[in-house]
Amino acid sequence: VQRSLVLVKPDGVRRGLSGEILRRIEAKGYTLAAVELRTATSEILAAHYAEHEGKPFYGPLVEFMLSGPVLAMVIEGQRCIEGFRSLAGATDPTVAAPGTIRGDLGRDWGLAVQQNLVHGSDSEESAAREIGIWFADLA
Ligand code: ATP
Repeated sequence: VQRSLVLVKPDGVRRGLSGEILRRIEAKGYTLAAVELRTATSEILAAHYAEHEGKPFYGPLVEFMLSGPVLAMVIEGQRCIEGFRSLAGATDPTVAAPGTIRGDLGRDWGLAVQQNLVHGSDSEESAAREIGIWFADLA
């Protein structure tokens, strides 16, 4: 069965949306293999966002991700990687479809980084890599 690394980003935790986001994941029928509230470190984020290094939003993105705790989790279920990305909606919350986490709960705050509430792995390869970064004991 497939696994995906999901994060409720600091904006989601700060706004008290962790429960609502967990509710949507569980209502969809995915199960939780691990959940932990924790503050990221520069090392974790450098590994997690390695593909974005050098992009203009990289510095602000790392700063935002260090701005408060994240709810890190590993979810499990048939095709949950694709399924969670569908639940999350488009990266830009302004245009994310209503019914999605970002579309219903997010908006553009006019900041350097899209504060878009959640992260979800985008492929089996990314999921394995990201689970190894955040939950080494599960990898
Ligand atoms: P995630 O990987 O967080 O689920 P995603 O795959 O839709 O979302 P990526 O392209 O991997 O987005 O970018 C990672 C994160 O960097 C985004 O979720 C967002 O917070 C931020 N980001 C991406 N593109 C931009 C941009 N053009 N301007 C500002 N922030 C951005």
